[in-house]
Amino acid sequence: MNEKTYDITIIGGGPAGMFAAYFARLRKLNVALIESLPKLGGQPETLYAQKNIYDVAGLPQVSGTQLSDQLIQQLHFMDCDEYLDTSVTNLDQEDDIWKVSTTKETIYTKAIIIAIGNGAFKPRKLTFEYDKAIEENNLTYFVNDMEEFRKKDVAVAGGGDSAVDWAIDLNEISNSTFLIHRRNKYRAMESSVDKLNESTVEQLNPYIIKDVTFNTDDHSKIDITLKMIKSDEIKVITVDKLLVNYGFISDSKILRDWNIELNGPFIKVNQEMETNLPNVFAIGDIASYPGKLQLIATAFAEGPMAVTKAIRNLYPNKDYFEHSTSLFEK
Ligand SMILES: Cc1cc2nc3c(=O)[nH]c(=O)nc-3n(C[C@H](O)[C@H](O)[C@H](O)COP(=O)(O)OP(=O)(O)OC[C@H]3O[C@@H](n4cnc5c(N)ncnc54)[C@H](O)[C@@H]3O)c2cc1C
Repeated sequence: MNEKTYDITIIGGGPAGMFAAYFARLRKLNVALIESLPKLGGQPETLYAQKNIYDVAGLPQVSGTQLSDQLIQQLHFMDCDEYLDTSVTNLDQEDDIWKVSTTKETIYTKAIIIAIGNGAFKPRKLTFEYDKAIEENNLTYFVNDMEEFRKKDVAVAGGGDSAVDWAIDLNEISNSTFLIHRRNKYRAMESSVDKLNESTVEQLNPYIIKDVTFNTDDHSKIDITLKMIKSDEIKVITVDKLLVNYGFISDSKILRDWNIELNGPFIKVNQEMETNLPNVFAIGDIASYPGKLQLIATAFAEGPMAVTKAIRNLYPNKDYFEHSTSLFEK
């Protein structure tokens, strides 16, 4: 066995990985947490820092960045070895110990929890050619700073939860907000759609975006050419900002080299979050089983399940508490 062998190594510092790491430390395990980005947080921190989340138990409304900060604060109640800016590249087993290869060093561990979300993600972009200079100030696929939208004329494109939520949130600070969707129905939570319908967001559907160009009179603005579905009707709107929210293309190609059983781009797990590899678990968005929901609430539940099963496998005689964490105060 290597000099430093962790009980559990968690790959991915999003909500699933951070909470699993905290829970494993609460269970007095030796834990390593590896995150490819320089900052912990996962999708809420990197993709929608300022978007509000309404479906985390006990937190009626929390932004992506607030949730990440709270998770980091909770994680830091217990010290855990964090390897940031470090990507896991491969997994190999030597006897009963796993060797985790990374872009920096090799980490040895008895069990692994894979919490890599959708892997390295890329936004799904507009499919037609447009002047890339538009991306400098007018067209974006992420919201890095909501303030950039303050008092602006804004268009959001997309029909999923994220597009609907952004249209509602940006409308609070924008001058005007359009929501462009190619269908009449949204793929979003009913409560969000109700909120949208009560708001002053101008809904443009069913339209698709055919072109985006700089406005000829005012180069700081853009013209968005829209075509109505199943109709020849063309409409042009002029805005300061276009946020395209067509979702993300997941890239879990790296998993193909890990000899792990996949279900499409996801890792197949059983009801105890076990993969086909011994003492290797998967949780959060990357884990797949019948009825899976890709939600933070689900990710939070899966971590304790994986950690508990790992303890049972590694230390069958270890005491563990299943209910009250206040026992740990002693
Ligand atoms: C725009 C948007 C809005 C959303 N809104 C909501 C909402 O309102 N409510 C809700 O419940 N859910 C929402 N979700 C979904 C939610 O964010 C995810 O379910 C959640 O982030 C999953 O957490 P995770 O830890 O599994 O994955 P992620 O958050 O994706 O974290 C995975 C982490 O693993 C890291 N990683 C990846 N590959 C490697 C590697 N090889 N080595 C090391 N690290 C690696 C990544 O950098 C990332 O930090 C939303 C998602 C999006 C995109």
